[in-house]
Amino acid sequence: MRPEAFPENIQPYLVPKPTGRLMYRCLDCQATFDIKELLYTCPDCGQVLLIDDTDPDRLKHVSGQTWRRIFDYRKMLTLPALKGIYRYHEFLGSILPLDAIVYLGEGHTPVVEASGPLQQRAGAAFYFKNDGQNPSASFKDRGMASALSYINYLIQEGTVSDILAVCASTGDTSAAAALYSAYLSPKVKSAVLLPHKKVTPQQLAQPLGNGAAVFEIPGVFDDCMKVVEALSGSYPVALLNSKNAWRILGQESYSFEIAQDFEYDLTGKVIVVPIGNAGNITAVMRGFIKFYQAGIIATLPKIVGVQSNHADPVYRYYQEPDPARRQFEPVTVQPSVAQAAMIGNPVSMPRVAHLVERYNTLAGQPHVFFVRVTEQQIMDWHLKANQHGHIACTHGGECLAGLREACRLKYVSEDDVAVLDATAHPIKFSGFQNMYFERSFPDAYEVSPDQRLINHPILVQPEGPVPTEGKPLSETELPRFVATVSEFIANALKLHRKSAS
Ligand SMILES: *Cc1c(COP(=O)(O)O)cnc(C)c1O
Ligand SMILES: [Zn+2]
Repeated sequence: MRPEAFPENIQPYLVPKPTGRLMYRCLDCQATFDIKELLYTCPDCGQVLLIDDTDPDRLKHVSGQTWRRIFDYRKMLTLPALKGIYRYHEFLGSILPLDAIVYLGEGHTPVVEASGPLQQRAGAAFYFKNDGQNPSASFKDRGMASALSYINYLIQEGTVSDILAVCASTGDTSAAAALYSAYLSPKVKSAVLLPHKKVTPQQLAQPLGNGAAVFEIPGVFDDCMKVVEALSGSYPVALLNSKNAWRILGQESYSFEIAQDFEYDLTGKVIVVPIGNAGNITAVMRGFIKFYQAGIIATLPKIVGVQSNHADPVYRYYQEPDPARRQFEPVTVQPSVAQAAMIGNPVSMPRVAHLVERYNTLAGQPHVFFVRVTEQQIMDWHLKANQHGHIACTHGGECLAGLREACRLKYVSEDDVAVLDATAHPIKFSGFQNMYFERSFPDAYEVSPDQRLINHPILVQPEGPVPTEGKPLSETELPRFVATVSEFIANALKLHRKSAS
C-alpha cells in the first residue's frame, strides 16, 4: 500500500527519518563514545558496550497506542527497508537513513502454535517462533542486518572504505556474516573463524558458498573468539561477533515481533531462549524493556534461559541466590547437540548480569529464570517436536526441554503460555538426527537413542530387472516392476486392497 493511502494521523510517522542520538555506553565505567566509531569494547576499561539513546524520552512523545498503530500500519508498506527488522526503526538503529538499510528478507518469522498432541505430551501450552526461517536459516540474520546496515551507512558517509568483516562462530554467525557481507561486496569482504570439526557440514558450506575466507581453527569456539579478539585489537577489521553492540540492537527485533504478534498483550507469556554466547537473551531482555518503557506493552513477559549441562556457565552463575555473592566462572565445554550454544565463557555475561537485575526490578518480581537440561532431553524433544510437524533445531528442542524443566520448578505456571525460540533450521543440524537414528553418537554426548523415536529409510530391492540411470525399463518390464514394488510397499504399510465396486 502507498503511504498516501494511510490514515492522515499516521502518515507523518509511517516512513521514518533518521532520528535520535545514539552512543556506545560502557557497562562498567559508564563512559560514552561516539557512535561513528567502530568500537567493540570500552577503550578505557575493556568492558563490553551497549548502544543507548542520549534522549530516550524522545520515544515517549508518541503514545504507546500510536506506536502500536504505526507498527501495524507499517506491515502494509512495500518499502524494502521497512519490510524487515526496521519496521521498528525508531527503536533500533534510528540514526540510519533508509537507503543504508540492508534487507535480505530477515525477521517477521512465523509464530506457530504447537500441535495439540505435542502440547499435551509436553504438559504446557506453547508456540514456536521459527527463526530458522531467516535468510541464512538462523536468528543471527537479525543482528547481521543491523551490523551491516550500520557499516553500509559508514561507507556511504565516507567514514570507512574497504571493510574486512571478521567473526568467530559456532556456525550460524559466520553463515549470516558471510551472507550479508557478500551482499555488500566488493566494498565489504569477510573472513570467518570456525572451530575445526565443531560446525556441521551445512554450516561450513554456507560461508564457503558466499565467498568468505574460511579458517578452521583447532579447539572450540572460545579459542576462536580469543584469536578474533587479538585480530581486531591489532588490525583494522570490523568485528561481527555479538561483542559488537550493533548485533544486539538488531536482535532486539525478536521481542518487538513477539509483542506485535500477540497484539501487544504479553500477560502470562513466557519467552524461552537457549543461551550460548548470551547475545540473544541480552537482546530479548532489552527489546522488551524498550517496548515496556515506551508504553507499547503494559506487561513484561517472563524469560527463561536454557543451557545444556555440557555448557552451563550462566546457569551455574545464577545458582547462587545472593546477587552479592555471585561469581562468574567459565566452564570447559563438553560435546553438545546444541552445538551453536556450546560456549564456556560467554562474551555477553556482563550484559546479562546487568539486564537481569534491571528486568526483575521493572517487573517488580523475579521474572528471568535459568534452567539446565541434559543432552538426552534436548535430542528427544527436538525429534518429538518435528514428528509433530514443527521445524525445531536442536536448540528449539533445548527450549522445549527447558520449558518442561521451568514448569517442574514452578517458574512457569499452568496458565502461562510459552513462546519457544527455534533459533535455526533443523536441516543445519541433521547430522545429530542421523547419529540418533543410526545409534552412532560418541559416548561423550551422553545420548542413548529411544527406539520409538528412531526412523530409517527402507530400501526397496525387487527381484527382476530394475530401471537404472539412462536405462529405462522396456514396456513389458515396467508393469511387473511397478506391481512388485507397490505390493512390497502396501505390505510394509499393512494396507488392505480396496474392494472392487
Ligand atoms: C548463536 C546461536 C545460539 C546461541 O545464541 P547466543 O546469542 O550465542 O546466546 C542458539 N542457537 C542457535 C541456532 C544459534 O545460532
Ligand atoms: Zn569502561
